[in-house]
Amino acid sequence: MTSRLNKTEKIVISIVTYGMAVLTVILLFISGFRPAGLVFLALGLPLILVATTLKLTGCIILALGTSAVALPFLVFELHAPDLFLAFVAMSLAIGGGIGLINQRHEERKERWRRAKTLDDRFDDQIFESALDIIHFVDKEGTVLKRNESSRSVLSYPTKRTLQLSEYVHPDDIDQIKGELLRLFERGEVRDIKLRFISQDKKIIPVELRATRVNERVGVMHARDLRRQVELERQLMETEARYRYLIEEAVDTLDSGIIISDKKQQVVWANKTIGEFFGIDRDRLIGIEIHRAFDRYVNVFEDSQELRARVEEAITTRARIDPYTCHVRPSMGREERVLEYRSIPIETERYKGGRIEHYIDITKIKQLEEGLLEKTRNLEKSNEKLEQFSHVVSHDLKEPLRTVEAFSGYLLEDYRDKVLDEEGIDMVTRMHRASGRMRELIDDLLNLSSIRMDRASFERVNVQKVLEEVKDDLEMRLRGVNLQIDEDMPTVKGSRIRIAELFSNLITNAIKYNDKALPTLHIGWLRDSKNKGMCTFYVKDNGIGIEGRYQERIFAIFEKLNPREDYEGTGAGLAICKRIVEEHKGEIWVESEVGKGSTFYFTIPTVDARREVETNA
Ligand code: ADP
Repeated sequence: MTSRLNKTEKIVISIVTYGMAVLTVILLFISGFRPAGLVFLALGLPLILVATTLKLTGCIILALGTSAVALPFLVFELHAPDLFLAFVAMSLAIGGGIGLINQRHEERKERWRRAKTLDDRFDDQIFESALDIIHFVDKEGTVLKRNESSRSVLSYPTKRTLQLSEYVHPDDIDQIKGELLRLFERGEVRDIKLRFISQDKKIIPVELRATRVNERVGVMHARDLRRQVELERQLMETEARYRYLIEEAVDTLDSGIIISDKKQQVVWANKTIGEFFGIDRDRLIGIEIHRAFDRYVNVFEDSQELRARVEEAITTRARIDPYTCHVRPSMGREERVLEYRSIPIETERYKGGRIEHYIDITKIKQLEEGLLEKTRNLEKSNEKLEQFSHVVSHDLKEPLRTVEAFSGYLLEDYRDKVLDEEGIDMVTRMHRASGRMRELIDDLLNLSSIRMDRASFERVNVQKVLEEVKDDLEMRLRGVNLQIDEDMPTVKGSRIRIAELFSNLITNAIKYNDKALPTLHIGWLRDSKNKGMCTFYVKDNGIGIEGRYQERIFAIFEKLNPREDYEGTGAGLAICKRIVEEHKGEIWVESEVGKGSTFYFTIPTVDARREVETNA
C-alpha cells in the first residue's frame, strides 16, 4: 500500500503520526504517569511506524528528531542521561535499519517499474529474438534489461544487473562513457566500434548504435562483428598473399610498371623501373603520381613533351598509346629506347587508378634500323644491277644487230659466191644464234624494266583484259578450247602488265600441250577475296611439270624441254613472277605430268567500299 503513496503523502502521514505520538507522551506526563518504558514505547513505536515509509536519510533525521523530543523527558523528568543515550542508539539503529531496507526496496521497484514501461514500448518477442545484443541502459550505464542475444553472447547471470565496466573492454570504457553522455544529450549515437567482454573473458568486437527512450533510459543495439572481423582477416590474408604473388610476378617482368590508385598515389613500382631510370623505386611508392613522375622525367630526352602528355592524360583520365621515348645514359643508367603506355584502370574496384608501362625496345629499334639500312642498300644495289643489266643488254644489242645483219647479208648475197656447204652451215648457225641472243636480251630488258609504282595502280577489269588478250592471240587460239569465267572480278594494278601475265600463261598452256584438243580454263577462286587479294588460275590439259621442277621454272632462262621441241627463251614465267610480285602477290603451279598444269596467282582486289561508291 505504501508504494502507491507519493513522497508528499508519506511525509504528511509521518508528521501527523509522529505529532500524535509526541502529544500522547506530553499528555501522559501532564497526567503524572511517567515511567521510562512508556517514553521508549511512546516515541519508539511511531518512529518504527513512520520509518517504514521513509528512506535512509529521512529515517536518520527522524531518529535524531525523536531523540531531541525524548531529551527533556529522559534527562530532566526521569533524571536518567544514560537512558537518553540508549534511546538515541535505539532510535538510530531502528530508524537507520528500516530506512536502509526501504531504500533498497525502492530502488529495485524503480528499476522494475522502468523496465515495465519499456516493455510497453517494445514488443517483448521481437526484443528477445533480435540478433543484435540489445541493452536498455540508464545514464550510468547500468543495464536495466537485456535480450536473449546479450545473455547468450555475454552470458552474465540473468538476475544480476550489469554495469558498463563489467562487459565493456577496459580500453573502450572511456569511449563508451563519452558516447553515453552524447546519447542522452543528442538522442542518438551510431557507428561506434568497440569491444565487449563476455563472462568467460572472450573479446567480442561490436558495432553499436543507441537511441534515447526518455531522459533516463536509452536502448543500445550492438551487432556482433566477430564473423565479419574474421572474414575481413581472412580476406586481408588472402589479399596479402595475392599481393605478394602479384608483386613478385610484376618484379620479374622485363617491362617497367608503375601502378597508382584512385587517389593518384603510387602503390607499386617494380624493380625494372629502378633499372630503367637509375633510381630507387621505393622513393616513388606512396607519393602522388605527378610527383613520382617528376622524380624520373629528366632521364628522357624529350622530357618536356612527355610531361605535358602525361599531365594531360592524368587530368583527363585518358590513355597514352605507344609513345617512344629515349632514356639518356648516365651513372647507373643505360641508354634505352622505351615504348611508354599509360592505361587508366577501368575495373569497378580500382577505377581511377592507372598503370604506367614501359617496354624496352632498344634491341628491336637497333634491329629495325639495321634492317632498314639493309633494305635501303639492297634497293640501291638492285637498282644498280637493273641499270647495269639494262645498259649491258642495250649495249650488247648494237654489236649483235651488226652480227645478225651481216650474217644475213652473207647468207643472202654471198651464199653461192664464197661459201661452200660447211661455210653456209656455219653462217646459218651464227645467224640463228645471234637471233636467239637478241630475244634473250629483249627478254632481259623486258624483265629489268618491270618496275611498278603502287600509286600508279588502276582499276583493272579482268574480263575486258582477257577479251583483248584473246583477240591478240587469235591465231594461236585456233583449234583450242578456251573457257573464261564470266564473272571475273575487278582488281587493282597495272592493266598492261596483267594482260602480259595472262598472255604468257595462255601461250605456255597452248605451247606445252600435246593433246589433240588443247583445253584451257581461266577462272578465279571465289573464297579468296577476303584477304584483299584475289586468286586467279590458268588451267590446261598439257604435258604437265614434274614436281621437282615446279619452283625452278619461275627462274629466268629456265627451260625444261629441248629447245628444238619448244621455242622460247625461258624468261616468260620469270616475267610473270616479277609482275605478280610487283603487285605484292604470289604465283605457283600445281601440275601432274601428262594430265596438265594449273598456274595460280594473286592480285590485290579493289577496295569493296570504293567499288560500291564508283558503281553508284
Ligand atoms: P619458255 O620461254 O621456255 O616458255 P617459260 O619461262 O615461259 O619459258 O617457261 C619455263 C619452262 O616451264 C618451260 O620451258 C616449260 O618447260 C615449263 N612450262 C611453262 N608453262 C608450262 C605449261 N603450261 N605446261 C607445261 N610446262 C610448262
